Amino acid sequence: MIWAVMVFICFVISIPFKFSNDLTAYPGPLLTDIPIELPYLEPLDNAPAEMPRFPIYDLHSHTLASDGMLTPTQLVQRAVEMRVSVLAITDHDTTAGLAEAADAISRLALPLRLINGVEISTAWEGFDIHILGLGIDPQSSAMVALLADQAIRRQKRAEEIARRLEKNQVPDALAGAKAFAGDAGITRAHFARYLVEIGKASNMAQVFKKYLAKGKTGYVPPQWCTIKEAVDAIHLAGGQAALAHPSRYDLSPKWLRRLIVNFKQDSGDAIEVAQCQQAPDERTQLARYAEEYQLLASQGSDFHGPCAWLELGRRLSLPDKVIPVWQDWFK
Ligand code: AMP
Ligand code: MN
Ligand code: MN
Ligand code: MN
Repeated sequence: MIWAVMVFICFVISIPFKFSNDLTAYPGPLLTDIPIELPYLEPLDNAPAEMPRFPIYDLHSHTLASDGMLTPTQLVQRAVEMRVSVLAITDHDTTAGLAEAADAISRLALPLRLINGVEISTAWEGFDIHILGLGIDPQSSAMVALLADQAIRRQKRAEEIARRLEKNQVPDALAGAKAFAGDAGITRAHFARYLVEIGKASNMAQVFKKYLAKGKTGYVPPQWCTIKEAVDAIHLAGGQAALAHPSRYDLSPKWLRRLIVNFKQDSGDAIEVAQCQQAPDERTQLARYAEEYQLLASQGSDFHGPCAWLELGRRLSLPDKVIPVWQDWFK
C-alpha cells in the first residue's frame, strides 16, 4: 500500500516536467502555479485532461467589444483554462477590447501571449469578406482612421437593416439590437439575438436563414472598405492580413479561387486553414490553396462565447505542408 502511495506521489510530482520542453518557448508560470477563479465558467466537460504537447494557437476570437459574449478579461481567463498559449482577439472592426485583455494578462500573471488583432469587414463582388489583421499596432493612425470609417458604415447599415425589418413586421429592431450591443458597434449577431428574444425565430441559425443572410429581407448589401484598403491598413499597422473562414462565404470553388487570387494580388499574407468545425476535406483543400498561392496558414476558433459545439483552442492544427502565419513571431 505504502509503495502504491509513493509511486502515485512521484507520478504527480513529475507531471509538470513531462511537458516542460514543449513550453520553453512560451515563458511564464505553469498553470498550476496560478490561482485563478473562474466563477463565470460553465463545467468544462471538453477541457483537455492534461497539458497539451504543443502550444495551442487560437488566432480568431471575439469579446463584448463586438459580438462576443465574454469581457476581454473573461476571454483571456477562459483561453488559459483551455490551455491556449497564444490568443488573438479579433473583434469586428474594432480594437477596443485589446487593452483590457492585455491588462488582465499582466495583472493576473496569465501564461498567455496576446496577439493584437481585428476582423475587418470588406466588400468584394457583392460579398461580405472578412480580413483578419494579426499583430497590429492598435494605435496606428492608418488603422485608427480605417476603423473610424468602418464604425460609421456599421451604424448606417444598422439603421438600414432596422428600416428593412420594420417593413417586414419587425418593430423597434434598432433599439433592440442596440440593447444587446451596448457600447459595441451593432452587428447582425445583435439583431439576431433581438429577433430570437421577440420570438421571430427559435435560434440564431434560423434568424439568419429567415431574415439576415444574403438576399433575405433584413440583409443590406455590403458597403465596407475594399480588401486592398483593409490589407494596406493592416500592413501600415505592422500586422499580417489573413483571409478569414474562406469556406463560409457560400462561394463556388471557382469563385473561391477568384477571391484568393484577388486577396493575394492585394498583398494578403495568409488564409485561415483550420477552424474548430469544418467539413471533412475543407482543411486539406484550404491547405492546398495556401501552398498553391504561397500564402501562410492561420488557425482560429472564431469563438464568440460558451456554446456546446465550439471552444477556444479546440481541434486546431495545420497540415504539415503549410507554413504557419506565426513562423516568425517571438523570434
Ligand atoms: P456582421 O459583421 O454585422 O455582418 O455580422 C456578422 C456576424 O454574425 C458574424 O461574425 C457571426 O458572429 C454572426 N453570424 C453570421 N452568420 C451567422 C449564422 N448563420 N448563425 C449565427 N451567427 C451568424
Ligand atoms: Mn461575429
Ligand atoms: Mn467572420
Ligand atoms: Mn470572427
